[in-house]
Amino acid sequence: MDFSKLKGQIYLDKKFLNCDKAKIHVLNHSLHFASSVFEGIRVYDKKILFLEDHLKRLINSSKIMKLNLNYSLKRLSDLNHLIIKKNRIKDGYIRPLVFRSSHSMSPETENCYTQLAIAAWKWKVLFGNESGIKINLSRYPKLNSKIYPIEAKSSGSYQTSVISKIESQKKNYDDCLMLDLNGNIAETTACNIFWIKDNIVYTSKKHSILDGITRQAILEFCKIKKIKVRIGDYKLKHILKSECVFVTGTAAEIQFVKRIEKNKFKKNSIFNELKSCYQIIKDNPPEKISDIKKLF
Ligand code: PMP
Repeated sequence: MDFSKLKGQIYLDKKFLNCDKAKIHVLNHSLHFASSVFEGIRVYDKKILFLEDHLKRLINSSKIMKLNLNYSLKRLSDLNHLIIKKNRIKDGYIRPLVFRSSHSMSPETENCYTQLAIAAWKWKVLFGNESGIKINLSRYPKLNSKIYPIEAKSSGSYQTSVISKIESQKKNYDDCLMLDLNGNIAETTACNIFWIKDNIVYTSKKHSILDGITRQAILEFCKIKKIKVRIGDYKLKHILKSECVFVTGTAAEIQFVKRIEKNKFKKNSIFNELKSCYQIIKDNPPEKISDIKKLF
């Protein structure tokens, strides 16, 4: 899909514009210096899943990147509802983007102002592969919060993801696993990772990952279903010896991983149970993670 040919409307700088009019200059600061932040939000049957959590993360990402996002949570929420209404999105995806104007062509930002765009489109599930995806190992590590603003969902943090994804697909894999600087399991290019061993669900600590909203939902499901969870620093051999591996994200939802390099995995009953929990929230999307328990 060529997104520059998207039809409908995009919100940009306080106006809803026809998509072909929602343009920025090539000498835009964020394009050159990766100074933008964004969100990916799903719409199921006209309801927006975890809108509040996504918008709070957007506000926090903006603060971390020192972008002056002058919109309240309420206004952002209204605009997200408006964009799906104007584009008649029943099931789809919303992409709010906060970025800097074109008033500097160096890391200096004093004269730049902050811009907000919100687009929405109908979009299928990333991977959407019932039989499972194959992932390899990325040659790039994921950095941590001591050397990088990992808590921000910022365009800059996707540099190594983009390169790694290209390299994986060239080798006929769907995606790749990235380790942290100490060789512990971190995440994939755009998803968090979980694995199941002896009825315990494992996932990585937060220091070298984007703390996914879907990840938080999975941890909440485990609490509700009384499934044991361990969150920690685990080496590759731990995941390779597990029974079942899956990745999570707004775009991918819950995606089974059938292979990491040559190591094979199988779906098991805990995976199926978590997938059913996800279906429950898709059928009745809560505004925020803390509302999940009301559905069970
Ligand atoms: N990690 C990375 C690097 C991502 O890009 C994403 C997608 N936003 C995730 C994890 C999953 O986050 P979420 O569940 O909030 O979509």
